[in-house]
Amino acid sequence: MIKKILHQISNTIFPKMCIGCMERSIPNDQGHFCVYCLSEIPFTDHFSSPNQNLMCERLYGRLPVNFAVALLYFSEGNIVQNMMHLFKYKSEIYIGQQLGDIIGSRIMEGTITSIPEIVLPVPMHAQKKLVKGFNQSAIIGQRIAEKIGASFSDDFLVKIIPTSSQTSKNKMERMDNLRHTFSITPEGIEAIKDKHILIVDDTVTTGATVEACGKLILKNGAKEISVACAALAY
Ligand SMILES: [Zn+2]
Repeated sequence: MIKKILHQISNTIFPKMCIGCMERSIPNDQGHFCVYCLSEIPFTDHFSSPNQNLMCERLYGRLPVNFAVALLYFSEGNIVQNMMHLFKYKSEIYIGQQLGDIIGSRIMEGTITSIPEIVLPVPMHAQKKLVKGFNQSAIIGQRIAEKIGASFSDDFLVKIIPTSSQTSKNKMERMDNLRHTFSITPEGIEAIKDKHILIVDDTVTTGATVEACGKLILKNGAKEISVACAALAY
């Protein structure tokens, strides 16, 4: 009884916020979006077809995957762009945590039969992380790992060259260079051996970053790779 009252008081003081707008509160038992945002959110259908979808197509011929899924479609000016902006640049960590929870639940509820054993987020350069305070892919990845019962590490993969130092290069040079910007620690190599690894990224555009991380992981002895991201640009 007391627990229930405390719960109600806490909900009044800290109401659950809609992660689409972070402006409207929603009843505690009602999903993650307010009715206004829910009507606009472009969910993908990837979790019911984890081997045949736009995310798989983006990686086709570049990185062999067990499955690849995105939760939302991202396009210029849509609600997902606004959401990801609030998350990444206004430090609304809550959005990323909730996205991770939804992705994790959908992996468990969907048609995916081979559940990854280790979740590795796309790394952020240490200097950038220090300034920003968090790696957005790690926020999402940690919650996915909890939901699917996998282990999680944001130390195994390391970004050794900051992306900003590559802006003077053309697209081809950047793609080629990307392959050499990530590294894996000795503990990481030991841990991923013969394991099914889930790579997590916040937003996937060309897929070049995921491809570079995936190839590195496979080259270092993982059994197979899957990919999950919150938003896929299209
Ligand atoms: Zn909303």
